[in-house]
Amino acid sequence: MIKFLDIKQITDKYSHEIHDAVSRVIDSGWYLQGKENEQFETNYANYIGTSYCIGVANGLDALNWVLRAYIEMGVMSEGDEIIVPANTYIASILAITDNNLKPVLVEPSLDTYQIDDTRIEEAITKRTKGIMIVHLYGQCAYTDKIGDICKKYNLKLIEDNAQAHGCLFKGQKTGSLGSASGHSFYPGKNLGALGDGGAVTTNDKELAFIVRSLANYGSSRKYVFQYRGRNSRLDEIQAAVLNVKLKYLDADNKIRKEIAAYYMQRITNPKIILPQVEDWDSHVFHLFTIRCSGRDKLQRYLMEQGVQTLIHYPIPPHKQECYKEWNSLSYPITELIHREILSLPMGPCINNMDIDKIVDVINQFEL
Ligand SMILES: *Cc1c(COP(=O)(O)O)cnc(C)c1O
Repeated sequence: MIKFLDIKQITDKYSHEIHDAVSRVIDSGWYLQGKENEQFETNYANYIGTSYCIGVANGLDALNWVLRAYIEMGVMSEGDEIIVPANTYIASILAITDNNLKPVLVEPSLDTYQIDDTRIEEAITKRTKGIMIVHLYGQCAYTDKIGDICKKYNLKLIEDNAQAHGCLFKGQKTGSLGSASGHSFYPGKNLGALGDGGAVTTNDKELAFIVRSLANYGSSRKYVFQYRGRNSRLDEIQAAVLNVKLKYLDADNKIRKEIAAYYMQRITNPKIILPQVEDWDSHVFHLFTIRCSGRDKLQRYLMEQGVQTLIHYPIPPHKQECYKEWNSLSYPITELIHREILSLPMGPCINNMDIDKIVDVINQFEL
């Protein structure tokens, strides 16, 4: 079977360096808040192009801490509204509700699956304090229009960059476009650790200081607690792994783009809707998503032919049990995407024979 994503293969590709890095940490006797974290924060801030990077425990915490920091700074308070795309992964929305802020769901564009910037302004109220854009599937969600709206209404622009490490908007990395950004290093992400990991990037010195404290029990000085924080630190071992893998991120993303270009060129079945890419710098293909009106049949057929696919995501946030209060709301574009979307195998380690097979099998699919 052709796997959707073979993480072991990716680890094997960098096996020697990863083993060396992990051994170095083991032998150092220093496992938290040490040199590896410091090095990674410097490397990743340089890579993204921000003044600050704070390593944290995971991507959800990263987003959570950004919002919490704005609350501590007095920029946001309980009940304030944050605009967020209706078709995002649940974590973006959990970060908002965890802080007692109110998510205001906005439909995506059916062409790019990114938040529809023509629908943002109508969702703004007196209580709107920020827009959380999500570079979903690895494609840049930022537009000049979104930047203009944030300026016009004095809104914070928060980026959920969990799926888009290395993605560019006019030469500038996602994660450096807004006021603060949350990143995830979950193993399956483009830059993945060997476990959980996350980071916040920002140019805001005060926010950086507060996030660093919050993720360390709310303390910046040992045994002095300024905020009610939590334990949300990035392990030295994970930071060491990330220091290795960051060096190869651009090369890995290049392979993803080559696979995507090949899929785009070779998949000719008229029943399949391919992703729309205007600018190849602005998509790092965390996922290669196609749409098909007979999605479930297509997925079963591909499985029978030995091709594993996944659905990102099968149930939109507003239809989830954890958000019962929204279950009767209607977001037709979001719901259509959730009915029709399918992710094909994608990653830096798929071989050409497998890609040819996937293309052939899809082209022979009959609805
Ligand atoms: C993975 C992901 C997150 C959460 O990251 P974790 O490290 O799993 O907590 C947040 N937002 C999006 C869009 C994601 O894909």
